[in-house]
Amino acid sequence: MYSESHCHLGDMTYDDLIDAEKKGFTLLLTAGIDLPSSEQALETAHRHPIAKACIGVHPWYADEFNNSVRNEFLGLAEDEDCVAISEIGLDFMGRMTHEWVREETFIDPKIQYETLDAQLGLARELSLPVLVHDRAPKMDMLDLLERSGNTNTGIAIHGFSKDLDYARRCVDNGIFLSIGLRTIQSAEVGFIKALKETPLEYLLTETDSSKPEGVHTVCKLIADVKGLTQEEVGRVATENLMRLIS
Ligand SMILES: [Zn+2]
Repeated sequence: MYSESHCHLGDMTYDDLIDAEKKGFTLLLTAGIDLPSSEQALETAHRHPIAKACIGVHPWYADEFNNSVRNEFLGLAEDEDCVAISEIGLDFMGRMTHEWVREETFIDPKIQYETLDAQLGLARELSLPVLVHDRAPKMDMLDLLERSGNTNTGIAIHGFSKDLDYARRCVDNGIFLSIGLRTIQSAEVGFIKALKETPLEYLLTETDSSKPEGVHTVCKLIADVKGLTQEEVGRVATENLMRLIS
């Protein structure tokens, strides 16, 4: 049993989703990065029960969030296939443009904080969990999340890449850590230590891509670090994800 806490399936077809199901996937959370892709995530979710949608404005496009987008999101969230607010967060390390060009500049931090705050509020109002993109310095995001009240409606850090102190603070607050393919393959010492020490009950799996099968590798690598089997990691991570969105 396998799951994606964070992928971008685009307009993946029914046949592609059946194929994912055959590879052991029971739950795929496909995330929007703006309004059109959030609408698309819901369309994908309607094609097959294993796909569920997350709606949100990515910090790379934080200046596109406004009251009219918020109202559209309120409408989209009425759909039972909308299970979380994502992808939201902070990124002070650069951005990808809509044309997928890497830029060293990023959206004005004041705007990023305002957009994040508004979307955290939306999640609380809708009693939905959030999956958070954290490319802010040190513990800034956790300081903010602890104050936000969103710990009551569920939080996961997507693409976790920080250290043991950060991971411990997440566990203390009931925040899940989602482990992605690129980070685990980088095998950075501080990250691996955090992964080793964090109870499996707080881990999720993701590829942040349109190819869910990469989760098999993520589970295998987590299993190697923790002395477990790939299947056990896949099953517990899926149960954790179900708990987050229930
Ligand atoms: Zn993403």
